[in-house]
Amino acid sequence: MTIGILGGGQLGYMLALAGYPLGLHFRFLDPSPEAPVGRIATRITGQFTDRSALKKFAAGLELVTYEFENVPVETARFLAERVPVLPPPAALEAAQDRLNEKRLFQRLGIATTEFAAVAGREALDGAVRQIGLPAILKTCRMGYDGKGQWILRNAEDVSRAESELPATDAAARKHIGTDPAEHAPFVLERLVPFARELSVLAVRGRTGETAFYPLVENHHRAGILRLSLAPAPQLDPAIQRAAEDAARRVFDALQYVGVLAIEFFEHEGRLLANEMAPRVHNSGHWTIEGAVTSQFENHLRAVVGLPLGSTHAIGCSAMLNLIGELPDSAEVLAVGNAHLHLYGKSARAGRKLGHVTLRASSPEQLASRLAELPGYFHRPEFGIDTVLRHSVSARS
Ligand code: AMP
Repeated sequence: MTIGILGGGQLGYMLALAGYPLGLHFRFLDPSPEAPVGRIATRITGQFTDRSALKKFAAGLELVTYEFENVPVETARFLAERVPVLPPPAALEAAQDRLNEKRLFQRLGIATTEFAAVAGREALDGAVRQIGLPAILKTCRMGYDGKGQWILRNAEDVSRAESELPATDAAARKHIGTDPAEHAPFVLERLVPFARELSVLAVRGRTGETAFYPLVENHHRAGILRLSLAPAPQLDPAIQRAAEDAARRVFDALQYVGVLAIEFFEHEGRLLANEMAPRVHNSGHWTIEGAVTSQFENHLRAVVGLPLGSTHAIGCSAMLNLIGELPDSAEVLAVGNAHLHLYGKSARAGRKLGHVTLRASSPEQLASRLAELPGYFHRPEFGIDTVLRHSVSARS
């Protein structure tokens, strides 16, 4: 059975690695001839909009899934006329645009931060009056890892953002008719002084069976995930239930099949949904060694129609992203129960090149293993030492 995967980055790479023991074969489509999956699977190099590449890609596949959420929705729909595409293209459509996503959450009764659509620079002042400061302005599409965001704390920040924003596109306004905010390119959100960031990895199979991993605590720097702790320390079971309930609502609304990630802020004892990803997720990498069944295997089990595997955590884990440059492998692997994953990408500032998962039998052991990691991980930008002080040891 051959499964087609749109996108050939590290998520696809780890999907394939999880699928080989299940007897699955993979074919990838990616615009880059350097996509990491080229090392381990058949890769077609082509644009997602190239219909002849799409036909060649789809020929003989059992089903198509994706590891990249900015695959054009039309691409997913074009393929869905030929072969099942899971998660359904509607999930891509909802997740690709922050405003659509927030409106979906709102419709489903899932709490979010307060937000307002911003059609262009002349609409920013009104949105700021509505939401108040501090706020965060985000592009609705194609923003990821903190890209396309402006933090607005005062009037000066607002005018700087205004000078960088495009004016509302008159042609778009005419096309849309009365309400340009319907298709607004930006969203302004209240900046929430959250206690912490949490994410849930949830999976739904073709039969409707669901499973949920324990919530993960995530630490970002400059908008990029640096460190995840799983299960999240000091987790209130009510918060876990609330996250699962949110995922269930999205599952039902979209007739979802596969792994879904939802990122939340924990604020004043409750969860506010920030965004979702209709795919396996960086904050679920710990599941490879830290859970009975990894998110990658469970995604494949779900889309293929196999029973889901246990999402139970084995002890506790920390996952650290390797960004921009790599540490010395031997120094990492000298730490007890450290697992190194290198994605085979060339080094570039801000690029995720690999990750390390440390597994331990208790929060105390995890804290001491984190402390043993080489100097690379103790640089301020990693923030492990702060996390160690506040999260692992203080809260355990
Ligand atoms: P995002 O691209 O929405 O995931 O944002 C990247 C990171 O910016 C998040 O993980 C948060 O650390 C921070 N952030 C985003 N939105 C907000 C918000 N409304 N309030 C506070 N922090 C935020």
